[in-house]
Amino acid sequence: EMLANQIAAGEVVERPASVVKELVENAIDANSSQIDIYIEEAGLRKIQVIDNGDGIDNDDVLSAFKRHATSKIHSRDDLFRIRTLGFRGEALPSIASVSEMTLETSTGEGEGSFVRLAGGKVLEHKPNALRKGTKITVENLFYNTPARLKYVKSLQTELANVGDIINRLAMSHPQIAFRLVHDGNKMLSTTGNGDIKQAIAGIYGVGTAKKMLPIEQEDLDFKISGYVSLPELTRASRNYLSIIINGRYIRNYLLNKAIVEGYGSKLMVGRFPLAVIKIDMDPLLVDVNVHPTKQEVRLSKEQELMTLIASAIQEALSEQQL
Ligand code: ADP
Ligand code: MG
Repeated sequence: EMLANQIAAGEVVERPASVVKELVENAIDANSSQIDIYIEEAGLRKIQVIDNGDGIDNDDVLSAFKRHATSKIHSRDDLFRIRTLGFRGEALPSIASVSEMTLETSTGEGEGSFVRLAGGKVLEHKPNALRKGTKITVENLFYNTPARLKYVKSLQTELANVGDIINRLAMSHPQIAFRLVHDGNKMLSTTGNGDIKQAIAGIYGVGTAKKMLPIEQEDLDFKISGYVSLPELTRASRNYLSIIINGRYIRNYLLNKAIVEGYGSKLMVGRFPLAVIKIDMDPLLVDVNVHPTKQEVRLSKEQELMTLIASAIQEALSEQQL
């Protein structure tokens, strides 16, 4: 079991950013309206995620560390209409197996719990008084798997990865107030008032948000909304393209390409716009169960979606010129 957890950790937990991603996604799934993330040394020393969500029942808290113990899937059918970010029940046991972890949680009713683990072993489990929500602290990541540590890049790169993940999660969930603090410095905060443009301002700055145009388009299968930058505002990296399908941030090469195609000749070669593209569709048209990190998806009607994205962008840009 312990070994299986460490092997799973190899797939789910590659670096500090993957830990941050899984913990924050759990906080989102728990209906939080505020999520604070504190990290030290790019997350290698410490990652702490505090949410004000549903919390975990005292009776269920230890089973959350068992593999494939998810509270989110109850039947095989659920797997085909996944609405939560998590569903594999792998993240907590995997992260716990390669770190020193404490979890404090309360549902707001009855006694809360405090659990302390090291290398996946429960060292302490006691009642705990805490307001409703969950606080998870991960320290000394990979302390017991030195081989993993070797794959960790410079602190700067790891920090950039953490920032990138939080940016995307914050943009996909404008109704949640996010705060990211690294070594005492605030890196990002969003208001959580539900407006994507406000979230963009909290992430990329107010000046950048002002240079974004709204897009809106739908057909029978897809509903597209979001913001794309004016052609004058571009970057040398694809990192500023964010695609959100049914509330889940995903990576997809072809959809990135469709965004660029929407700009046509307005974009210089090697330059990329900033874009936040929200796509809502029947969950049956998208398979998220392709990879453990759930960032890759398999889409039906991919070509139709590409055309729709490109035309939504074209339309927004041409209206802008009038
Ligand atoms: P999954 O998200 O795939 O269900 P995880 O291993 O990430 O699996 O989490 C295991 C379980 O622990 C979740 O199903 C959920 O019930 C509980 N859990 C984890 N984090 C939180 C949190 N921040 N708030 C409430 N419940 C949580
Ligand atoms: Mg999860």
